[in-house]
Amino acid sequence: MTKELAYVKDTGLTWPKGKSERKEIDHIQLHHTVGNYGTPRQWKSLHERRIADGQKGVPYSYLVLQSGEIYLGRGLTFAHGGVKDSETTNERGVGANQRSVAIALDGDMRKDHLPADKQLAAAVRLVQDILAHYGNLPILGHNEVPTYKNRKPTDKTYPTACPCMDMDNFRALVAGMPMPSPEPEPEYVPDADPDIPGLYVYAGATYSNVRSGPGTNYNRVMTLSAGDAVLYLGRNGNWRIEYTIGLGYMTTGYREYAPRMGEDNQWHLIRQGNGNSKWIGPTQAKISLVWIINRGSRKKGGAE
Ligand SMILES: [Zn+2]
Repeated sequence: MTKELAYVKDTGLTWPKGKSERKEIDHIQLHHTVGNYGTPRQWKSLHERRIADGQKGVPYSYLVLQSGEIYLGRGLTFAHGGVKDSETTNERGVGANQRSVAIALDGDMRKDHLPADKQLAAAVRLVQDILAHYGNLPILGHNEVPTYKNRKPTDKTYPTACPCMDMDNFRALVAGMPMPSPEPEPEYVPDADPDIPGLYVYAGATYSNVRSGPGTNYNRVMTLSAGDAVLYLGRNGNWRIEYTIGLGYMTTGYREYAPRMGEDNQWHLIRQGNGNSKWIGPTQAKISLVWIINRGSRKKGGAE
């Protein structure tokens, strides 16, 4: 049996029904627990409830606490119970529980303060060490695990939002890329003439978060990148954005605007310049997002 990673804490769970050695491995899975199991007592009580329900015990290989501590679950070399084998049984008849290591982050990752910095760093280190042990493997969120029907791939992934984390960001961290730096504070420029409805090209430096209200405490509803088209439909106390996806050809005169938070705590479209542009870009609306800032409300639609 492979030795466990030295920093993983064995809280003394016992396995009266045994554990099955994994026979193959082709990915690492990330989960969140939603509930809190971050004390040995809570972890043990989850374990015992699972056994009482007819399972072998806690479903995960490891639990990463918000403190950065890591509890031993089923461990490095054993199959786990993080997904349903019946929905993930592949062409060779092997369910995803039998093909992966499952790492659970303790808590509900939909909450703004989670994952905690120490928790995220610990999860990244754990995944790096698992990769060092097994070689390079895909790192999948629970919601990215492929599903199969009658051992045939469905081209769908597991129907869940778990682990409610930005997995691309997580994979970047595992690959050693730095945490994205916070948005720079934009210089306030007095309002230009944003009263003309039209299609504008957002001219932000890298990206700008558009939120459902004036402040970073509001939900992010979309992210504008430089070159994104913004359809501005007039002002009249409100303004609206329709974000368009889909390829098309367009010739247009444009004015570049960038949304900025003004000193009056309202959003303003700030004129950046004019131009004439021929471009292949988004013309067909697939997602329309109508955001009325001054009322702090928004509508999200799926028109196509
Ligand atoms: Zn999950």
